Amino acid sequence: SHLLARVAAHEHLGAFLCTDVELALQQARAADERRARGETLGALDGVPLAHKDIFVTTDFPSTAASKMLAGYRSPFDATVVAKLKAAGTVTLGKLNCDEFAMGGSNENSAIRPVRNPWDAERIPGGSSGGSAVAVAARLVPATTGTDTGGSVRQPASLSGVTGIKPTYGRCSRYGMIAFASSLDQAGPIAKSAEDCALLLGAMSGFDERDATSAQQPVPDFAALLRAPRDGASAGRPLHGLRIGLPREFFGAGVAGDVTQAVRAALAEVEKLGATLVDVSLPRTELSIPVYYIIAPAEASSNLGRFDGVRYGHRAAQYGDLLDMYRKSRSEGFGAEVKRRIMIGTYVLSHGYYDAYYLQAQKLRRMIADDFQAAFAHCDLIAGPVAPTVARRLGSQTDPVAEYLADIFTLPASLAGLPGMSAPAGFGEGGLPVGLQLIGNYWQEAQLLHAAHSFQ
Ligand code: GLN
Repeated sequence: SHLLARVAAHEHLGAFLCTDVELALQQARAADERRARGETLGALDGVPLAHKDIFVTTDFPSTAASKMLAGYRSPFDATVVAKLKAAGTVTLGKLNCDEFAMGGSNENSAIRPVRNPWDAERIPGGSSGGSAVAVAARLVPATTGTDTGGSVRQPASLSGVTGIKPTYGRCSRYGMIAFASSLDQAGPIAKSAEDCALLLGAMSGFDERDATSAQQPVPDFAALLRAPRDGASAGRPLHGLRIGLPREFFGAGVAGDVTQAVRAALAEVEKLGATLVDVSLPRTELSIPVYYIIAPAEASSNLGRFDGVRYGHRAAQYGDLLDMYRKSRSEGFGAEVKRRIMIGTYVLSHGYYDAYYLQAQKLRRMIADDFQAAFAHCDLIAGPVAPTVARRLGSQTDPVAEYLADIFTLPASLAGLPGMSAPAGFGEGGLPVGLQLIGNYWQEAQLLHAAHSFQ
């Protein structure tokens, strides 16, 4: 109830879309009773959290922060939600985000934007902005988010909290409202790498209801984060770890204050025993056009189901069937969602498919290959998450300029690699800057261990 009072007192941040006080108290009491009986379900039993409104839930409406799904109730829980429930967590409510997770500022929410608690006139990042802010403002100790092209890492960075996007296939996508299915991954946001490790452990695992879910054993991330490396000592926990710094992540496109904070964090990491090595990800720039072809292409297909019949808002007045579709979709979707549907439909259309979509698929493979070439020289890759600290709300009106800011998060997404953001320090105006760590496939434990060592 203390946290629910904080949620209510921080209403102006816009992080929550809905809460249920009665339900939360009931779940908390059940956890207390389990504890009294000595039957606790584990480390997460009784821990309060909240879910990004991209996950469908039976206990709350699930809207993807879109008018299209206003009031929609799912008949089932997303697998990630069900797993966290089974671990005994207490759900306070659902969190604001960019509409259908499309965006990096949370200004695309059809309900209202989210404000950054470090400066309420600034964006918190997105699309999981509500998830990052709920943790940053200490409304809840941990949240879930989703990351298609950076939506866990970038808001975590801009809001000064920790977030991890696991390897594609680690967490089930079942019950995650689909944006770009070949990229979408769930991930936790919390105060520390340790808390992220606990959550990720509970969220992960094979699910037969997701065709791209991996048959991969789930390590005990929380235990591994405390496990010492070979030859490490107390003062040098990262002994022998080679961290690759991609040349392309430290160029002219990054603001000076961000580079400075990232370099300072890397100097700390070096003191802890890690070695910094130069590597190259030569197709970094291409990740923007590649992503902004593939993601809208998949989105245009995934959003076809919102037609006012199968799912979603239906216009009150219409003529024939086509007019019903047209009016329902015009009213239900926001501007950014419509933009992506148009781009996606265009790049998939006859005569353009080979020129755009097919080329993008080929380049996507090459971007993944570049990472493997880099991993021949290092264990982890590090760099900035975003080129600048959080900008002011309403200060970006050019969608293409907004897309360019995703340059450092898109490569790992396209390659399906795990990536995380851990607080590195502060930039201009005392605003938070995150350090991005990217690992090879299934190496989340290594990322969490490194972040934990320097936190
Ligand atoms: N900012 C990116 C986009 O707008 C990433 C969004 C995401 O990861 N969901 O698509």
